[in-house]
Amino acid sequence: MIPAAFEYERAATLAAALKAVGTRNTKVMCGGQSLIPLLRFRLTQTKRVVDISHLKQLQGVSKAKGVIRIGAATTYRALLDAKVLRDDCPLLAEVTERIGDRQVRNIGTIGGGLAHADPSADMPGAMLALDAQFVVRSAKGRRTVAARDWFRGPFESAMKSGELLTDIMIAVPARGTGSAYESFEQAASGYPLVGAAAVVTRAKGKVTAAALAFTGLGEVPFLAKGIEKLVGSDGGTAAVEKVAGGAAAGVDANEDIHAPAAYRLHLAKVAARRALLRALERAG
Ligand SMILES: Cc1cc2nc3c(=O)[nH]c(=O)nc-3n(C[C@H](O)[C@H](O)[C@H](O)COP(=O)(O)OP(=O)(O)OC[C@H]3O[C@@H](n4cnc5c(N)ncnc54)[C@H](O)[C@@H]3O)c2cc1C
Repeated sequence: MIPAAFEYERAATLAAALKAVGTRNTKVMCGGQSLIPLLRFRLTQTKRVVDISHLKQLQGVSKAKGVIRIGAATTYRALLDAKVLRDDCPLLAEVTERIGDRQVRNIGTIGGGLAHADPSADMPGAMLALDAQFVVRSAKGRRTVAARDWFRGPFESAMKSGELLTDIMIAVPARGTGSAYESFEQAASGYPLVGAAAVVTRAKGKVTAAALAFTGLGEVPFLAKGIEKLVGSDGGTAAVEKVAGGAAAGVDANEDIHAPAAYRLHLAKVAARRALLRALERAG
């Protein structure tokens, strides 16, 4: 379908973009991989689209003082090319490889995906497990929102009107940390029916920290319960089986034409077990 008419504007600066998003009937666009289909299906309409994809300030991956900073307009392709992520936060590269196809990864951005807050997207699980922090700015100032407070509902984030997501901040995982992402994809779209992202730290043979997050399973991506019970254990198969089995217990799982809830819950157990075991293997 052809979208309803709208004005298109390339923001000249971040300040101009912030000013524009504060005005009525304006939508920001980065890679357009989610926004353009929404406009074309007329699921959303707007008078003005402000493009921020070219703003250098919002691009790139860097590391300073033990924290990785990813600009919101950084494409998935650029994430895959970023040596600092391969070296210090390989979970992000592992997740990114599962997103869409080459064309989507060349144009789609991490910030666009997180702002879109699709409950079936791949990246949110990793953001929760890594305890990422999101910097949002408006013409009035800036604030930081934890990824763990970001996902409010399906396609709903903690961002307020007039705000832009500008940076994703992730503390470099401690020495002895291993991570893994396991997903079962819907064959046609490649989106996960269920994805599980695990981050574990082991020191002197004992697990000292553990987090696991699911995506695709519920209305919002979420941290699995009971994973902290791994802490203090040796992280062996028996300990993992125990927590993985209960990780999705009591969850009101999504049900749609692709998979019934019971099947998703089954996949969640398998994904949790595999992700945790692989993360522990990598933790050493
Ligand atoms: C064919 C196809 C396959 C895909 N497969 C997968 C998949 O397997 N897994 C997966 O996780 N995803 C998948 N996706 C989704 C893809 O990851 C997202 O479309 C993409 O990340 C969105 O980023 P974007 O820069 O294109 O955002 P846009 O489409 O430009 O924007 C998306 C939304 O976010 C808002 N927005 C964008 N940037 C910002 C910002 N900085 N601050 C505030 N608001 C902002 C926009 O206003 C809009 O509402 C697929 C998409 C396509 C088209």
